[in-house]
Amino acid sequence: MGFKLRLGGVTDISTVDWYGNVSSVVFFAGCNFRCPYCQNSGLIPAESGQEVSLEQLKERIKSGLSIIDAIVFTGGEPLLQPEGLIEAAKLVKDCGLKLMLDTNGSVPTVVEQLLDLRLIDRVALDVKAPLTVEDHVKVIGLQNQVEDIVENIGRTLELCNRYGVEIEARTTVAPTVSDTPDFIRRIASDIKGKCNVYYLQQFDNTGNVLSPSLKSMAPPSREKLIKLAHAATEEGLRNVYIKTRNMGLEKIE
Ligand code: SF4
Repeated sequence: MGFKLRLGGVTDISTVDWYGNVSSVVFFAGCNFRCPYCQNSGLIPAESGQEVSLEQLKERIKSGLSIIDAIVFTGGEPLLQPEGLIEAAKLVKDCGLKLMLDTNGSVPTVVEQLLDLRLIDRVALDVKAPLTVEDHVKVIGLQNQVEDIVENIGRTLELCNRYGVEIEARTTVAPTVSDTPDFIRRIASDIKGKCNVYYLQQFDNTGNVLSPSLKSMAPPSREKLIKLAHAATEEGLRNVYIKTRNMGLEKIE
């Protein structure tokens, strides 16, 4: 119990972060990406958030046990705090709860440890772009080591498949960044047969958006998301959903 975590906060009850479950959502501080559409950009610096002991987290989780059946670890990027993350995941399982890891997939070695210990029930993997260096450079806001990052995301996807964990692949659709049918079609081609569901999430400009120019742009319309979802289904992807601020989650056939 001596481990510390750096957290940006905890949402005690959510019904929209893991559909079909009532979950508590734990936000890990620090991220290694700089996605221009990031709406949690206050959590990007490693020194953001506050240090919390596992004991404190346990008390917080236990206080909701009569209501929740699951925990979601999100961020920031949880994989950047491997020791604390693994201990926190053990704590969740000790409480008899299901655990979903929401990740950018850039640290497969830690994902493998979690999978090996059977600590996670579902992985929500950001597939922010087709799995090429050129596409990722535009979307994750980095110039260096992008080749390694793309390889690591592919490896995370492969590991999740190998261990048979449920996989929710997700792409945020943001204007000028990730909003063309060709872009979505190429992602669909990369993940076809490798995920249980695919979510196209509407960019939300109401948060602490990293790029000031994107902050000033309107989110893509529901109609646009439906069109992009069709590009994914035409590529042969099944269980494609769109997620919008007004309508929530909708399956697109
Ligand atoms: S949107 Fe990008 S920068 Fe923001 S937390 Fe997620 S991976 Fe990190």
